[in-house]
Order: sequence, then C-alpha cells, then structure tokens
Amino acid sequence: MNIILMAPPAAGKGTQAKRISNKYHLEHISTGDLLRNLNDEKINELLAEGKFVSDELITEILENHLKSLPREKGFVIDGFPRNKAQAIAYENMLKRLNRELGIVIVLDIDKSVALKRIVHRLICPNCGAVFNDMFPDTKAKEAGICDNCSHKLIKREDDTEETYEKRYQIYLEQTEPVINYFKEKVYHVDSSINADYTFEQIEKIIGGVYDKH
Ligand code: AMP
Repeated sequence: MNIILMAPPAAGKGTQAKRISNKYHLEHISTGDLLRNLNDEKINELLAEGKFVSDELITEILENHLKSLPREKGFVIDGFPRNKAQAIAYENMLKRLNRELGIVIVLDIDKSVALKRIVHRLICPNCGAVFNDMFPDTKAKEAGICDNCSHKLIKREDDTEETYEKRYQIYLEQTEPVINYFKEKVYHVDSSINADYTFEQIEKIIGGVYDKH
C-alpha cells in the first residue's frame, strides 16, 4: 500500500499522514521534514521563503530514502510530487525500485480556512506533533508545551501570512496540475471541518481500494 497525500499548504497533510502511517503501518515520508533535517543553511533559507528546492535534489533525497526501506514496507508520502516534472521523475523512480504508485489522496480546503490554521500553528521540534490554539480539537493541553513529549512548541519559520500567500500560489500553479496528471488514481477528501472527519473519509477510501485486493 503506497499513498501520496496532496493538499494546499496547511490543509492538514502532515497530521493525516501520521494517522495513516499509524493505522496502516506505513512509513511516513515528509519531504519537508527530510529537507529540514538536513540542517543546511541554504536550504533552510529557501524553506523560510516558501520556495521549492530543485527537482533534482528532492528527487535524489527521496530515492535514497525509499532505497533504505524494506521492499515490503508501504509508505505514505506528504510533500511530493510538487510539480509535473517531479511526478514524472517519481514514476521513473518507482519503476527502478520496482514499487507501485498506489493511490493519491487530495485534501480539499478553502484558502481562508487554511490560512487561519497556519498562522496559529505550533509544532513540536522533538516529535513532530502539530497543535493550534484556534481549534479545540488541536489545542495543546498546556499552552506552548507538547502533549506527547512535553517539549516546548515552536512556530515554523515559514508559517507566516506572507509566506503562505507565496506557497499557495505555487500550489495552484505547479502542484494542482499533478492532480490531473494522476487522474485515475486520485481520491478527494473534504479537509475543512476537522482532523477526525478528514481521517474518516480517508479510511473509507483506503478500505474501498485495498479491501478489494
Ligand atoms: P512541507 O513541510 O511539505 O510544507 O514543505 C516545506 C517546504 O519544503 C516547502 O515549502 C518547500 O520549500 C520544501 N519542499 C518540500 N517538499 C518539496 C518538494 N517535493 N519539492 C521542492 N521543495 C519541497
């Protein structure tokens, strides 16, 4: 079972990817996290401005990561492919690795709702958990402290309104066409209500597709 999660920034991609990976025992691969974990000054600058790293770099990082996974382990990717060139590179990579594309799940959300989520988002730098004071179901129990590991929460450097606008435009221009490219593999989910409702819809899709096999 391999899944690509696609969505505009702040639609809840990371949160849903974690839930999917826990329930279905899949490796969670976040290309944003892979890049942040490199701790490279130049890359961090690009990320903070909401710009993409090069297709070659991200494709190479992802392929190396996939190579290190046991063949039988399925995965859920959040953050890739972000444009058509990456989609084509991904298909070639899967052929080389003898892996299946699987399905593409798209989280749909209005820009205004996503923006509200992003400017109040806090993340745990230690375990990756995501919190938001604006929504009762994602509020940290103790303000500014991670519910899971008690680490101090931080704001992501690219979580500003200005950067969001840029990232959203890039999404419309470059990432949305990928949805069309993968057409017959694509399933849409309403991600504007809350994380539980989004996940219920995802479970139905996964159940429907993989129970048949
Ligand atoms: P994310 O955590 O998915 O929101 O990604 C954070 C940032 O990492 C993005 O705004 C990009 O700057 C960079 N990034 C993540 N995935 C990719 C990708 N597939 N191609 C290019 N840049 C990426």
